[in-house]
Amino acid sequence: MELKDSVRTIAGIGPKREAALEARGIRTVGDLLNTYPSRYIDRSIMGTLEEPTDSAVTIMAAVKNKGTLRRIRRNLSLFVLSIEQLLDDGTVLRGEVTFFNQPWLRNAFDADSTYYFYGKIVHKNGRKVIYNPQYTKAENPGTFFELTPVYPSTGALSGEIIRKQIGAIFDAGVAVPDQMPEKLRQEKNLLPLGAAMKGLHQPEKAEEVREGQRRLKFEEALKINLGILNNRGTGGLSNRSIGHFDELKRFEQHLPFTLTSGQIGVLSDIIADLKSGKVMNRLVQGDVGSGKTIIAVACAFLMAMNGYQCAYMAPTEILAEQHARNFSRMLEPFDIQVVLVTGAMKLAEHAKIAKQTASGEAQVVIGTHALFQKDMDYYNLGMVITDEQHRFGVRQRGMLAMKGKQPHTLVMSATPIPRTLALVFYGDLDISTIDCLPSGRKRIKTYFYTEKAMKKILGLMAKEMAAGYQCFMVCPFIEESEEMAEVRDTQSVFEAVKGFYKGLFKVACLHSKMKPEQKKKIIEAFNAGQIDCLVATSIIEVGIDVPRVSVITIMSADRFGLSQLHQLRGRAGRGERQSYCFLVSNATNDKTIERMRVIVNNHDGRVIAEEDYKLRGPGDYFGFRQHGFPELSALDPYEDGPLIAETREVAKRLMDSSTAGDMTYRTALMDAFYHGVEAISMN
Ligand code: ADP
Ligand code: MG
Repeated sequence: MELKDSVRTIAGIGPKREAALEARGIRTVGDLLNTYPSRYIDRSIMGTLEEPTDSAVTIMAAVKNKGTLRRIRRNLSLFVLSIEQLLDDGTVLRGEVTFFNQPWLRNAFDADSTYYFYGKIVHKNGRKVIYNPQYTKAENPGTFFELTPVYPSTGALSGEIIRKQIGAIFDAGVAVPDQMPEKLRQEKNLLPLGAAMKGLHQPEKAEEVREGQRRLKFEEALKINLGILNNRGTGGLSNRSIGHFDELKRFEQHLPFTLTSGQIGVLSDIIADLKSGKVMNRLVQGDVGSGKTIIAVACAFLMAMNGYQCAYMAPTEILAEQHARNFSRMLEPFDIQVVLVTGAMKLAEHAKIAKQTASGEAQVVIGTHALFQKDMDYYNLGMVITDEQHRFGVRQRGMLAMKGKQPHTLVMSATPIPRTLALVFYGDLDISTIDCLPSGRKRIKTYFYTEKAMKKILGLMAKEMAAGYQCFMVCPFIEESEEMAEVRDTQSVFEAVKGFYKGLFKVACLHSKMKPEQKKKIIEAFNAGQIDCLVATSIIEVGIDVPRVSVITIMSADRFGLSQLHQLRGRAGRGERQSYCFLVSNATNDKTIERMRVIVNNHDGRVIAEEDYKLRGPGDYFGFRQHGFPELSALDPYEDGPLIAETREVAKRLMDSSTAGDMTYRTALMDAFYHGVEAISMN
């Protein structure tokens, strides 16, 4: 069997399973082999009844009776065994094992025999209990101590089926060619690819998983570094001559405010880049509300003054529209033509904009990914600016750069990620920071309440709205499959709030399932002050700028990440009014309280990101974790920073090498890296 063979060649996969895999993009044997366990069950970690445990451990204990079965009510029975564990020092610990709803176990245990039990140790009212453990008789443990991989379910297929199908691949025998040059593999002491895969899918010892992961992580880190170097490589000499820097004075005079020292500093970094004769690759970091947009507008202005086009890419259509309005307003006095391109646009309109862009009539082009789709050609693209970059990544950046034949690149981001991550995502960029907020801003007063306080919160919101200010209420996005009871959904909150303010204030609702036209209408009405309170999902998270918002109330706040809460809070307090943020949640466990306290007490995005990281706790996680960074699959963005730094050297060596093996490997990794970016299609 070969990696490129269809999954149909695997025993047990018929048209049905093929379709289910296809739906997740798994078409070949290689694709399926690249589906890795999310964790492993390792029953070889032994514990004692003495201490409660956070994760499952195995204990060896003697069963003292045949157990008692208690029927609590119709759907609930308990089967309880008394056990004794003998420690090395002779101490005997007594405890019990409880199984729910497994009455057939009544005759399964032999009194006075020794068993292994695998489960969490819980101490409850002085008793030491293991609930629903896995178990085996000690004299014949069979496969009990073998490592068991656990796969996430893939669409319609359970993790167990995935495990069996992968087993069938190994049973049939599969050839896994390895393109990593032997020399490099030896130097870094890495497993060949086939052995790494085998170790991850069918390990006999934990060591094999670790070694398998090390090989995969190494390669992924190398790939990212090649991408970074490649992006940098496109940043050679610039053939665009930029001058007219004095014109910026004219631009500044038109602004309704004076620039902060942070903004001036960043602008002078950019000017130095543009004067250097090299292609600029710069990241502008600045916390929520620090005023990054104006930097982008100034750059667009400068490009236009020099006869170049500028493209500005936003992560959502709502934001693209907001920016198009702002850019137009600020650039029109200078006769600069600003256009908007989005995916939602009608064909005829889109064709018109594409034509204006190709002819150079459009000088500043603002949009979403649609900016770089096939049908968009630029007359003379001088600079690409992307906003809130962590949503795009190293890979897309490279593709953009290729599109525009080495335009200058400016990336703008709030700073919700720790330093180690910045290295992953911005390793190809020079960094400037806006380190201050515009003067006159007041710290947003932040409180954590349970829903009991809703009346009080709605009352304060009413006061603000009566004074002419506006409010956001944010609810988490809910998957259809989820329990609804605990989580506040947008629709029911909207109805409750509308009822509460009936006849007093205008309340509207905004969520991602609405048609783009409808969304646009609501946002415009909110901007114009025709809506007092907007109930929304977190689609408002990034970048929405409405200075008259003075309260943001976040429902089921425990459902959001801390950096996300900080971003959401930043939707308020963008003017001079004292603003408020209410975090509402009925979850009152210690962990939630601790997380909410971080937001209540901190107002610096970077500090919040670091705290978030600490609360997650790095820990030695075993398996591949879901972490929400689509660019990384094997790597953990919170732990593998050092590996990324280490592989940078290797990537440089590969880039400079001219031996055949190195070059083949480099090409293969680059292809894999830039392959499959669907958001942006290149022509
Ligand atoms: P962010 O950095 O979050 O993208 P924005 O660029 O949206 O911030 O700016 C936030 C708000 O601050 C906007 O309403 C903007 O007009 C205003 N602003 C930006 N720079 C200044 C300044 N130097 N003085 C006063 N207000 C400013
Ligand atoms: Mg912004």
